[in-house]
Amino acid sequence: MPIVTLSNVSKTYPSPNSGGQEMVAVDDVTLEIEKGDVFGIIGYSGAGKSTLVRLINALEPATGGTITVDGVDITALRERELRKVRGGIGMIFQQFNLFSAQSVRANVAYPLKLAGWAKTDIDARVAELLDFVGLSDKAKSYPEQLSGGQKQRVGIARALATGPSILLADEATSALDPQTTHEVLDLLKRVNEEHGVTIVIITHEMDVIQTIATKVAVMEAGRVIEQGDVYEVFSAPQNHASQRFVGTVVKGVPSPSELAVLRERHTGRLVTFSFRDGDSSQAQVFVDLATAGLDFELVYGGINDIRGRAFGHLTLAIRGENATVDRVLAEIGARIEVTEIAGEETR
Ligand code: ADP
Repeated sequence: MPIVTLSNVSKTYPSPNSGGQEMVAVDDVTLEIEKGDVFGIIGYSGAGKSTLVRLINALEPATGGTITVDGVDITALRERELRKVRGGIGMIFQQFNLFSAQSVRANVAYPLKLAGWAKTDIDARVAELLDFVGLSDKAKSYPEQLSGGQKQRVGIARALATGPSILLADEATSALDPQTTHEVLDLLKRVNEEHGVTIVIITHEMDVIQTIATKVAVMEAGRVIEQGDVYEVFSAPQNHASQRFVGTVVKGVPSPSELAVLRERHTGRLVTFSFRDGDSSQAQVFVDLATAGLDFELVYGGINDIRGRAFGHLTLAIRGENATVDRVLAEIGARIEVTEIAGEETR
């Protein structure tokens, strides 16, 4: 059951100087976010990720297409009805956006006050939320007395206060160090699993997606260029730009500088074999190469794990007659993904 559906959604900003080109921030995006997903949206800065989130949150109107949230077409709603939709969506930010002059308790209580809750109910709910994010002992502290990770936990408690069914996280871990990032991601995982909240996480950090997301959409220049199950997109990205993204975090894919070193050190044709769980016998690759009388050497590789499912890349330098190498690679390529690294012969 999709909780958010975008159909051919576009967002165009008028040109800043009259007569100039319009700015297309989101360009014909179609995607479905299922209830219970942790849906990652990845892309370089300027790709249109934040704009997409503001559209889902109904903070800005789309210029084209339709957006439904929880079965309601929000592109057709008026401001008063939109406020109700926004109430079902929590949001956390890169810079936390806490009120610095208010205590942790007051920050978390804020949306409840706005929603008109009674004081005793607010007190009980705030205590429950602070317990959930592990900050019961910081209720009276002020944001400046907290670490970045603690501030984001307050942000999460505040975003969850009114019990939203969707949580939007816009670069929520980008200001945090790697250790703290993982603590916050663990907490978001609990928000998803224990509270059944659907999470949409926007980031330029591929490892965030790899750690927490179940689905991913890759954005470039306002468009979604690839989307699907995280394991599928990470183990076999189809689009050239997604391959570039994925290559930066996936183990076993040599960087351009590492490739240069490999070429320097090894003679033969450099070929990467990509294995995914469920692939037929991996040993057969080596049997095929050896049976054909080819000489080979393992030069690079790595195994990845995405929520318990493995995939890996192994690069070999293969030496032998070109025609024989071509024939064997074609045979193996019928079973698993085989990528010859351009440049062919190395000396
Ligand atoms: P991302 O979140 O991926 O970094 P954004 O959604 O912030 O990307 O921006 C996408 C494009 O839209 C950028 O080129 C940006 O300059 C432009 N843009 C975003 N918001 C506005 C706005 N309010 N007015 C004009 N252009 C905007």
